[in-house]
Amino acid sequence: MDLHDVRAQLEQMLRELDSATATLEGEGAGESEELSHFDQHPADTATELSDADREVALIEAADDQRSQVVAALKRLDDGTYGRCVDCGKQIPPARLEVRPEAARCVEDQARHEAAAG
Ligand SMILES: [Zn+2]
Repeated sequence: MDLHDVRAQLEQMLRELDSATATLEGEGAGESEELSHFDQHPADTATELSDADREVALIEAADDQRSQVVAALKRLDDGTYGRCVDCGKQIPPARLEVRPEAARCVEDQARHEAAAG
């Protein structure tokens, strides 16, 4: 595994997440302006609100992934990248190829998500 490539990939993800979040936040601002025009149409307002909720959820998911990418870059700096933050075992390269920001092995990630949920 080439850590230089991993870093480039993570930095690219960071840029894409930032631009996706900026786009979503821009759209959200536009829609809340429009909301005031829908006061006479409750059904339309409901649709707009659920769109806004979905945008908030997308922004939160992007923020969450962003912090994982930032943490992965920090692990690259620390020299601990590729090791599970819980058990310290090597994370399989195949997993890191799919999710370069992965902080845990599959088992600990499942445990972590079960605990968080
Ligand atoms: Zn683990």
